[in-house]
Amino acid sequence: MEKLHFDVIIIGTGVAGLYAALELPETLRILLLAKEEMDVSNSFLAQGGIAAAIGKQDKKEYHIQDTLNAGGGICEIEAVETIVNEAEKNIHELHDLGVDFDLESGELALTKEGGHSRFRILHIDGDATGKGLVQALLLELKKRTNITMMRSFCKDLLVKDNTCYGVEIIETNKKANLCAQKIIVATGGIGSLYGITTNALGATGDGIAMAYLAGATIKDMEFIQFHPTVYYSDEKRRFLISEAVRGEGALLRNERMERFMPLIDKRGELAPRDIVSRAINDQIKHQTIPYVYLDATCIAEEHLMKRFPNIFQRCLEYGKDMRKDMIPVSPAQHYCIGGIRTDLKGRSSIHNLYACGESACTGVHGANRLASNSLLEAVVFAKRAAKDIQESITALIELKDIVWEKISVSPAHDYQASRQLLQDLMLQDAGIVRSEKGLNTAKRKLQGMKREWMQYDGLSRASLEIRNMILVSELIVESALQRSTSVGTHYLEE
Ligand SMILES: Cc1cc2nc3c(=O)[nH]c(=O)nc-3n(C[C@H](O)[C@H](O)[C@H](O)COP(=O)(O)OP(=O)(O)OC[C@H]3O[C@@H](n4cnc5c(N)ncnc54)[C@H](O)[C@@H]3O)c2cc1C
Repeated sequence: MEKLHFDVIIIGTGVAGLYAALELPETLRILLLAKEEMDVSNSFLAQGGIAAAIGKQDKKEYHIQDTLNAGGGICEIEAVETIVNEAEKNIHELHDLGVDFDLESGELALTKEGGHSRFRILHIDGDATGKGLVQALLLELKKRTNITMMRSFCKDLLVKDNTCYGVEIIETNKKANLCAQKIIVATGGIGSLYGITTNALGATGDGIAMAYLAGATIKDMEFIQFHPTVYYSDEKRRFLISEAVRGEGALLRNERMERFMPLIDKRGELAPRDIVSRAINDQIKHQTIPYVYLDATCIAEEHLMKRFPNIFQRCLEYGKDMRKDMIPVSPAQHYCIGGIRTDLKGRSSIHNLYACGESACTGVHGANRLASNSLLEAVVFAKRAAKDIQESITALIELKDIVWEKISVSPAHDYQASRQLLQDLMLQDAGIVRSEKGLNTAKRKLQGMKREWMQYDGLSRASLEIRNMILVSELIVESALQRSTSVGTHYLEE
């Protein structure tokens, strides 16, 4: 049932894309695109939860203040107020769509994470919040006859006179242009730009690159969040140990088994992520091992296993028993704060083009994202984009069959080597601690890679991902060079 025209095309089946599709009226013909299986996304991997100031001890003002504190003074207040004020409504709506949040004594169970002054993180199956969310939304989606799901790689946005009218997609040996009245980019993060990440390896910044090439405003790309506690291994995609483990009392220790966080920040292990990541980085520099330890032995055994069944199991698979062993952790790239600039309705600077989720920049996170605010931001702005589309769409489009055009893929270029080169470069020069010299080196090397790759017309997913990774890396490095003082996740060495 492949069609050429749709009312709305949504690129991405993470929480942002799925929720946007479900929030649109069933009268609209919607196409949902994903480059992998529908449930392969950063959303699926989310552990800790989704923030909402609904606890008895909590107030919306506290959540707003915590978000502003983490954001280093550059959060956009209206966007922050929007996610906080609309959190409860969206939690109810998710529940109505079949999402089962964990309960405690009949009430929604709430935990605490770094930077949050109150217990306000809702979770699913202990530490499998993303999986629970995605599975419930996908189940609901399959009931909707107005939504077509398709696995294809979106290459470019079709834009004329600053108005988006569709997307170009490729599959093996063929390509097609698909048109729609409204297009939503929900392509997620950029983790694979860095050699070590918690992200799904398909997170190559495609949506941000496509929007940039189409002329959209991109903002705050210098702010890349590293998660402080990621299981230390030699894998590229590393396993996250949720902040919620520290929220429940786990401590950080250096190789001498000393706690170091209380000396750095009065919030100790629950200081915002940029502070904890830099502190760990610093400890690692001054000790003989490339990691520090997460000590969860102080958490009651029963609680530990009930609250974190998946993390507990994964650590066991690595040979560590959280009840008695120290868990080796170090920081890894985790979240892209910047992205396609959007307004409070999810609209980009290009007419008819929307963005939501991690590929968007709403201004909520400022210079540093507060834990569990991203799933919240994704659902709040997906709903807002859907509402604006509903209000502004004109006539329903007539569906026509898709026309595929044959393409020949150029001979294989060595994209693996380029990918590795870029990942090493970004980790070294645009990572947790940066310098003007390092950023200029990265800029020069990226320019060389760009010259090589932009003239290579390989119409394969691999080559297009490299194109996108180079473009987004350039955006990160350029933005970092333009910000001459340290703030939040952008930290320049003295
Ligand atoms: C390990 C981990 C744990 C996390 N834990 C939490 C947490 O507890 N709380 C929280 O708030 N946040 C958490 N986050 C962050 C949060 O999960 C993400 O920011 C959020 O889920 C992003 O959702 P999204 O819908 O924007 O994108 P994703 O969920 O990443 O989905 C991206 C989609 O876009 C598709 N796509 C990408 N490029 C293309 C293309 N070129 N063509 C077609 N399709 C494309 C992909 O196939 C995929 O379907 C975590 C992230 C990770 C990695």
